Amino acid sequence: PIEPWQIGGPVIKGFGRGSKVLGIPTANLSSERYSALLSEHPSGVYFGWAGLPTRGVFKMVMSIGWNPYFNNTEKTIEPWLLHDFDEDFYGEELHLIIVGYIRPEANFPSLESLIEKIHEDRKIAEEALDLPMYSKFKDDPYLKCSA
Ligand code: ADP
Ligand code: MG
Repeated sequence: PIEPWQIGGPVIKGFGRGSKVLGIPTANLSSERYSALLSEHPSGVYFGWAGLPTRGVFKMVMSIGWNPYFNNTEKTIEPWLLHDFDEDFYGEELHLIIVGYIRPEANFPSLESLIEKIHEDRKIAEEALDLPMYSKFKDDPYLKCSA
């Protein structure tokens, strides 16, 4: 179990790899703004709740790290919101409450095995977030604030 923590800011553009290469869109947050906070939290896969003020509160599974498969040089924060949106929301304020940790970051021999692992992570997150100890955070006012 981890101590829940929060992070938020406008959704920024990444490399566009999430949805195009993996079929998994991730709403990137600026890691520059949060480098101190990020260095406190180990790289890996986390889950929690995501709030978009005009759209609602959604389950999310998120990677924090260096994306070894893609050899990134910058630590990134990339939540996948577990909801089908009919449009992008770049620039919108996104607030996250991170409540659980799934696994450390890992490298994968193939794109297929990476995608498969992310879908396992999603299933773990979906189920865990229904447990009272995690679901109670979806009502946190932080998820509804717009700034
Ligand atoms: P980028 O590299 O710019 O982050 P992605 O391919 O990861 O591009 O796509 C992410 C973008 O897709 C988000 O910024 C958001 O605007 C949009 N999007 C649509 N549906 C989702 C979703 N379910 N979860 C996260 N982002 C989504
Ligand atoms: Mg992304």
